[in-house]
Amino acid sequence: MNIDPFLQGLVPEMTAWRQDFHAHPEIAWEERRSSACITQLLTEFGYEVTTGLAGTGVVGTLRRGGGKSVMLRADMDALAMTEAAPERPHRSLHPGCMHGCGHDGHMAMLLGAAKALVREPGLSGTIHLLFQPAEENEAGARRLVEEGLFQRFPSDAVFGLHNWPGLPAGVMAVRPGPMMASCDLFEIGLSGKGAHAAMPHLGQDVVLAAAQLVSALQAIVARQIDPLDSAVVSVTQIEAGSTWNVMPASALLRGTARALKAETRAFLAQRIEEIASTQAQAAGLHLSWRYDQRYPPTVNSRAEALIAREAAALVVGEAHVQDDVAPSMGAEDFAFLLAERPGAYAWLGAGKAGAAGLHNESYDFNDAILAIGAQWWVRVAKLVCRNEPV
Ligand SMILES: [Zn+2]
Ligand SMILES: [Zn+2]
Repeated sequence: MNIDPFLQGLVPEMTAWRQDFHAHPEIAWEERRSSACITQLLTEFGYEVTTGLAGTGVVGTLRRGGGKSVMLRADMDALAMTEAAPERPHRSLHPGCMHGCGHDGHMAMLLGAAKALVREPGLSGTIHLLFQPAEENEAGARRLVEEGLFQRFPSDAVFGLHNWPGLPAGVMAVRPGPMMASCDLFEIGLSGKGAHAAMPHLGQDVVLAAAQLVSALQAIVARQIDPLDSAVVSVTQIEAGSTWNVMPASALLRGTARALKAETRAFLAQRIEEIASTQAQAAGLHLSWRYDQRYPPTVNSRAEALIAREAAALVVGEAHVQDDVAPSMGAEDFAFLLAERPGAYAWLGAGKAGAAGLHNESYDFNDAILAIGAQWWVRVAKLVCRNEPV
């Protein structure tokens, strides 16, 4: 591990920030306390600070002469879930809200990097540190883009980092191309004529049609997507009926579709609708339909993925960088920033024995990786904004 002594010395401070954020989690769009803490610290460090971006977002800007500009992004929001760790000294003080995805650690690592970057010699360029609201479900990054993020803060490249409990602590993973999938939601309503359960011929069986539809939808990925491409169609909810001797008049199915490529994503949307429509027609049922396009795939550009990779190798060592890691079918709203600018999104191994995964009620960010993440940020900034070799 190659951590600068100054950053190593910041570990107690980063840990304190991280645990303070953990104790005071805030859900999407409500990150007011986090935003205020970040604003205060960035101002103390000497950054030019812009607040109120998409509500609670903050950008700290460091200008060091001419050269490239880079945006480094941390997310700020917590999850609407209750933490199950009553013995944890820094447990959430807000029931029903918890930093279950480690965004508390993401903020602390970028703040550590912020404090280190102001004293870095050899930087030439502009560094924008983006603290982003509402990553979970709410597409805070999309709102930032719509509100002119890159017009206000011109950036040649954007970088993102997520802690990853599935990888051992001290390992980093980043690859050119897709890192995470798209995420879309669908809702299919089937309605017809209900009947006595003993006289099915007098009605139209929406339960049978719903069951057949679930099977038919599975054939999209199994039979119509290239086996070397990746996609998921999951039906996760079926609602129908209220008792055992009445055939209901309506059924509702909900689910999610995921893909690593834009064209596969579009194909899934088209086929799900066609199959639902055909099945409803065959059963003589009325179809209602809603398809909600949430997050596009998170796709790294080649040159920036190589910068992220080089930065990782400088920090954790060549042997601990995985550049052939399989993408995740989870989704990430950093995709909206990557759709606008070249960039890369990397995973920072956070694994420790027996620890809970992301979005688990017992999860806690692994403070042992704070210095690694902060050092990676510093390396990325130096690789992009340099007037001398690193
Ligand atoms: Zn999450
Ligand atoms: Zn997350």
